[in-house]
Amino acid sequence: MMAAIVAAESGERVTLLEGNAQLGRKILISGNGRCNLTNLAADDRKHYHGNHPHFPRSVLRQFRLEDTLAFFDNLGVAFREEKRQRLFPVSDQAQSVVDLLEDQMKCLGVQVEMNAKVVNGDCRSGFVLRVGDGRSFECDRLVLASGGVSLTRLGADRSGMDLAVDWGHQVTELKPGLVPLISPEKYLAKMQGLKIRAEVSAEMQGGRRIVDTDDLLFTKYGVSGFTILNLSARLVAELGSRPVYLKINLFPGQSPDEISGMLAERWNRHPHRSLELSFAGLLSGKLVRPLLDHLGYEREAQVERIDKAIRWQIACALTAWSVEVSGPRPFDYAEVTIGGIDTDEINPDTLESYLVPGLYFAGEMVDVHADLGGFNFQWAWASGTVAGRRHGN
Ligand SMILES: Cc1cc2nc3c(=O)[nH]c(=O)nc-3n(C[C@H](O)[C@H](O)[C@H](O)COP(=O)(O)OP(=O)(O)OC[C@H]3O[C@@H](n4cnc5c(N)ncnc54)[C@H](O)[C@@H]3O)c2cc1C
Repeated sequence: MMAAIVAAESGERVTLLEGNAQLGRKILISGNGRCNLTNLAADDRKHYHGNHPHFPRSVLRQFRLEDTLAFFDNLGVAFREEKRQRLFPVSDQAQSVVDLLEDQMKCLGVQVEMNAKVVNGDCRSGFVLRVGDGRSFECDRLVLASGGVSLTRLGADRSGMDLAVDWGHQVTELKPGLVPLISPEKYLAKMQGLKIRAEVSAEMQGGRRIVDTDDLLFTKYGVSGFTILNLSARLVAELGSRPVYLKINLFPGQSPDEISGMLAERWNRHPHRSLELSFAGLLSGKLVRPLLDHLGYEREAQVERIDKAIRWQIACALTAWSVEVSGPRPFDYAEVTIGGIDTDEINPDTLESYLVPGLYFAGEMVDVHADLGGFNFQWAWASGTVAGRRHGN
């Protein structure tokens, strides 16, 4: 839609082929139906990843945060900032974003063809695109922006990437990103549904430590929530080749010393309490019971009988609770796809294919993915804009 708008603004005759019966289905479900459009830190390249981490640089420079804000402001979207510098429409409705993009395309005369799933095509002399129902479309310049493969129920698949493969392009390995993680640790299932705020870290190969503090959700399969989704894209790269252990600090920013001191104070005040009850009001009972069992502490032990060394061990366990994760949930639970069209084959300044002149790529189908928090849309808006422009001719 961005590419169509930009191309139409410069006077080109534009047709948009959409496989679904509805435009922007991923926008509609994004941010829990509220659409986290972008982020105040969107210009910081550290939030964008791929096989070639420098690839997004030129595109992100050509269409910055201020351009996103100006573009949507012009459409009529007012923004509100939420935690982690995320920007949402004040309407709290993703639908309004799709409605305004559609209206802009209408005003610019973009011809929109719905239920037009492209199944194959030619690129020998201009482009011919054939749609499942037999229709075909011709053009001299083509932007492929068919998205990632996650959420097949929304019509996502590899069809756009396969078309590029037919025309000589390569697709790097596809993996689910921004995705809940599976844990083999069965006791976690007893905490299913519990959401807490925690600091989660993991050590990557080579010793680099990644860390995030936010919501942590326990599920039937393992762990989820903002912090896990955010760390997942980097962890997924290592999962499979070795076991990965998350370190969870249930008291973000606090050390074992501080927690041990805090427990000593609580236990002195109420020495008759059981170990389990001594955490009441501090940590959820849904977490404390299975965790103490897992760690092998007697829940019923009176705290006055627990010595300093054990108290210290408990404090260490609560600030560096180790949880093994073994893999990501499947693509249908992932917000983005890691991998895509190999960026070695795309001009980073124009997004034109080096292999097929006149062919451009945008959005998630390219081997670029970003952190949670509006950065994936920023890449979609920026790359759509750059791919939609006519460069230098
Ligand atoms: C649950 C969820 C929540 C998300 N929340 C956010 C968020 O709040 N903020 C954020 O930044 N990112 C979010 N994302 C990620 C974001 O939605 C995507 O990165 C973004 O939509 C990618 O844009 P795109 O245009 O490249 O692909 P898409 O939005 O997937 O659009 C691709 C379009 O191409 C169509 N298409 C595919 N193949 C064909 C074909 N062969 N022929 C014709 N049409 C075809 C599809 O039907 C689709 O309409 C979320 C993703 C999910 C799954």
